[in-house]
Formats: sequence, structure tokens, C-alpha cells
Amino acid sequence: MAGSRHCSFPFPGEWVKGKVIGSGSFGTVHLAMNKVTGALFVVKSTESRAGLESLENEATILEGLTSPFVVKCMGKELSNGSNGERRINIFMEYIAGGSLFDVAEKFGGALGEEVIRLYTREILQGLKYLRENGIVHCDLKCKNVLLGSSGDVKLTDFGCAKRLKYMKNDGESGRSKQYVGGTPLWMAPEVLRNEGLDYASDIWSLGCTVIEMATGRPPWSDEVSNPAAAMLKIACSNEMPRFPSNFSKEGLDFLSKCLDRHPKRRWTAEELLEHPFILGRSVRNSSTDDVCSPASILDIGMYDDYDYDSDESESCNEGESLYTNPFSTRHCIQRKGIVRRQQAESALESVEDWITVRSGGQL
Ligand code: ATP
Repeated sequence: MAGSRHCSFPFPGEWVKGKVIGSGSFGTVHLAMNKVTGALFVVKSTESRAGLESLENEATILEGLTSPFVVKCMGKELSNGSNGERRINIFMEYIAGGSLFDVAEKFGGALGEEVIRLYTREILQGLKYLRENGIVHCDLKCKNVLLGSSGDVKLTDFGCAKRLKYMKNDGESGRSKQYVGGTPLWMAPEVLRNEGLDYASDIWSLGCTVIEMATGRPPWSDEVSNPAAAMLKIACSNEMPRFPSNFSKEGLDFLSKCLDRHPKRRWTAEELLEHPFILGRSVRNSSTDDVCSPASILDIGMYDDYDYDSDESESCNEGESLYTNPFSTRHCIQRKGIVRRQQAESALESVEDWITVRSGGQL
């Protein structure tokens, strides 16, 4: 028996699904064609319940956004399967270059600093636009930045994104303690500690994304060998991910402004758009040695009260892991209480892979 269907664009029967062009933790992305106009677009869909929530959130957020720096959502199709389960397709503009992760792979893994500077400027324009619209992306990384054929860059994958004004506030500058999502190696320390989400969280992830572009590998991949150690190091140590060894002084300074462990000291997107790395030509710093990460101001003792609650976790519907290590899988994590760090460490070490926990709460 056929289920019910609501579609804003394109009309049912007017489009045909083509090959898979990408996949992630929560969805599969197909190339699609409008049979009436011949135009290409993409359709993102999912089979899992967690994926459905993520795609519904993504559609809701994207429908309210119009920017050259954010992927355009052209519509969505909601339907009920014959057994009553909800289904969703999101239709988006097709960005021919694919993600920066795909692009970097095609050009030997890492990107040059000049190109990184150009892409970073556009990512910052996107983050500035999101901030003006009260949105935190929450999952910024190379895989979630698309590249057009003329070098234009667009943010995508808003499955974990949050509208700050709709979130329960902890009374401090719009930061929220509702469940958070993202990919742990790119997540800011304060987000992993569940101290709240703010625009500054995306700036930390931007720093991680710049490192990813420059090295061709996830941040922290030199420093840690397993997911539990990574999460503890990011959340509770005073360390930084290793900065690219061949970056210019301007590039290194830019990273230090993004990767300040104190969110209030992190530069905003507006400020970073004025940084010499973004404005001018980069100058190679030949004296730079292998490890360039600055010392952090973090006082480890101040986080003794924080820990991770994995009691109510449920398994993530695992997607394709594009990196050769386990850190590429996206997780959504909900903290429902604070338990001791020692307990959490052993709990994290006991899981096979990353876990996804969803509150099921509405934004
Ligand atoms: P994640 O694991 O990050 O959560 P996801 O399931 O939310 O992934 P997306 O990140 O939205 O899925 O898309 C997966 C991949 O599909 C992207 O990395 C990119 O290669 C490709 N892709 C997504 N949207 C587009 C688009 N509009 N045009 C071209 N390629 C796209």
C-alpha cells in the first residue's frame, strides 16, 4: 500500500535519481536530474531513525538560509512508507567539485597554503552569515565544505546545526547545554565538556579544518592513537592539535587565534576575516620546525568536575568511514549528568567505536 507524500520541489515523477556521489554517518547523497528541465541537483536521503532526525533538522535549518557561502536547499519530500515509517529526501544544488576532503584527495591529500587561505576566507564568510542568523554549524570539517568549479566554497551538512535563539540558555551569552553533535576530533574542548555551545565552537572547528586541509589528515591524528584518548586530550588537557610544519607565520598565528582553548578569547569570524593570513599573501617561515603548537592557557584542574555520561548511549548507524582511522565518524553526544572522569575514561575505552546519543528534543 502506498504511503502519503508531500513534496515542495521537484514534483514527484519529474526527477530521476542517479549515482551515489557521497555518503556520511547519517545519509546518502545521490546525483539527480530534473526530467523536465534537464537540470542536475542532489538528493540526500537516509534509512535510519538517527539519520531522519538529522535530515529533518538539516532541512529546517537550510530552508531559512540564503547565502552564496551556504549550500542551497531547493526543497524536500516527506513521505510515509507502507509500514508507516517517516521518510525524507532533501533536494540541494549540485556542487560539482564535491567536498574539500574529496578535492584534497584528488590533489595528493594536502592543499597548498595559498589555496587554503582562499577557501578559509569563504568558509569565514559562511560562518559570519550563520552567526548573523543565529546558527552554529557544529560539524565543520573538510567533508562538509563543498567546492564549486570556480573555486567558490559552500558550507553543507547542517544535520547537527543549532539555532542558538531556540536553545535553552544557561544565561551566558547565548551558550546552550542541550545535546551537541559533531565529529569529536574537530569539536571544541568546551563542547566536549558540555559547557555550552556558541559561535566560538565553530571557530575551533575551523582551525581543525585548516589543519586538515594543510596536512590531509584529521587534527590530533599525530598525537593520539584511540578515540577515548583523543576525547580526553581535547576536553581535558592543555594541548593543541599539531600545527602544519610548513605554514607561514601568518598561517600559524591565524591558527592560534582559532584554537585558543578559552572560547571567549577565540577570534570571531568577523575578526578573522581581517587577519593578515586572510587579507594578504602568506610568507613562508623557514625557521618553523616540526611542532608549532603553542602552549595553552588551560588550567587542567578547573575541569576536574567535568566528565562524560555514556549510560544512555545508543549505537550510531555507522556510515562509510573515509579516513583510515576511526576518528572520521560523526557523533552526536548528549550529556545527561556529570560523572567522574575516571569512570568515563574506562567507559569510553570499552566501546568498539564512537557512539551516537540523541535526546530526541526539538530545536
Ligand atoms: P557526515 O558523515 O559528515 O555526517 P552526511 O551523512 O551528513 O555526512 P553529507 O556530509 O551532507 O552527508 O554529504 C556526504 C558527501 O556527499 C559530502 O562529503 C560530499 O562529498 C557529497 N555531497 C553532499 N552534498 C553535496 C552537493 N550539494 N553537491 C555535491 N556533492 C555533495
